[in-house]
Amino acid sequence: MTAPGAAGGLLSGSASTGPTEDDWAAAVAAVRRLPADARVLLICHVNPDGDALGSMLGFGLGLRRSGVRRLQATFPGPPEVPEPFRWLPGLDLLVPAVEAYPDPDLVVCFDAASESRLGELVDRLDTAGEALVLDHHASNTGFGRIHLVDPRAAATSVVAEELLARLDVPLDADTATCLYVALTTDTGSFRFEATTPAVHQLAARLLATGIRPGDISRRVFDTRPFGAVRLFGEVLGRARLDRAAAAGRGLVWTYATLDDLARHEQQPYVLESLIDSVRCTAEADVACVLKQVGVDEWAVSMRSKGAVDVSRVAIALGGGGHRFAAGFTGRGGAQEVLGRIRAELDGALTGS
Ligand code: 5GP
Ligand code: MN
Repeated sequence: MTAPGAAGGLLSGSASTGPTEDDWAAAVAAVRRLPADARVLLICHVNPDGDALGSMLGFGLGLRRSGVRRLQATFPGPPEVPEPFRWLPGLDLLVPAVEAYPDPDLVVCFDAASESRLGELVDRLDTAGEALVLDHHASNTGFGRIHLVDPRAAATSVVAEELLARLDVPLDADTATCLYVALTTDTGSFRFEATTPAVHQLAARLLATGIRPGDISRRVFDTRPFGAVRLFGEVLGRARLDRAAAAGRGLVWTYATLDDLARHEQQPYVLESLIDSVRCTAEADVACVLKQVGVDEWAVSMRSKGAVDVSRVAIALGGGGHRFAAGFTGRGGAQEVLGRIRAELDGALTGS
């Protein structure tokens, strides 16, 4: 996901400050004690984005180089990788969810804040010999057994790289490419608040493997079919500005239907970056995009510039995310879903 701000503080105790040395030691031990023929299953969240795929595949490539032979990567839902990521190294690790090991020796989850984000693969948390969770969402619910959850990390790939380092797996260009895609996706190409010195130091280590950031960025962020450009024109043309919303901080929003996608012959992934074209609106603190995924069903993306904690809105409406980037699945008509968001916004001011 793209998280344009600092992480929130929904977890308490050690989880809010990141993994302890004991957590790291448990994760390292879980990998080190695997027998030679162990089956390892990597799972990232449904509708995977750059951080989900990049952290999972980058870690998977590292594990494979360290000698893990029976290794699968997967995600719930249709086994289709969004077009911008179809060139990533490590795609050969991917299997459709239906083919995933039913009872792996180790399952590792990436970038999923809650069990619901694992869809039909959620049962592996119980059937696997060990369950390790790598994530950076403050809203992480604490599912799984070993938790490497760092809400201060800019991306799950930050956590994945540290675990590889602690496993003494050196970076190579393929792993670095995946982790770089993840890091740039979640920091908005190093623009968001979470872009700490450590983020740039990680980027430096990744670039030192010889990967080409210009090529990577163009493939991931700057290449879309012409139909997507036309679709954006139409959908942005119907954007609405509600200045009174969020106690006067302002809300800008739009929606895209399945029919819009069909008319322009586009796949749903092209709408992932739509929120970035909407959230630049100067007159609104909060931006919202409703993407139709079924009859009366919408995948909702929300962003805030700081006055509103949109993760509070998302959690209240059954989803999750970060303070300044969050989402949920809304049911009903678009106006109905929007009405629910508007009703939650006033109570989600960061000062309250
Ligand atoms: P995006 O708007 O880029 O899809 O997602 C922004 C953030 O909200 C991400 O951190 C993502 O994990 C979270 N998010 C988006 N949709 C959902 C959802 O349906 N459920 C949960 N729990 N989190 C979501
Ligand atoms: Mn992420």
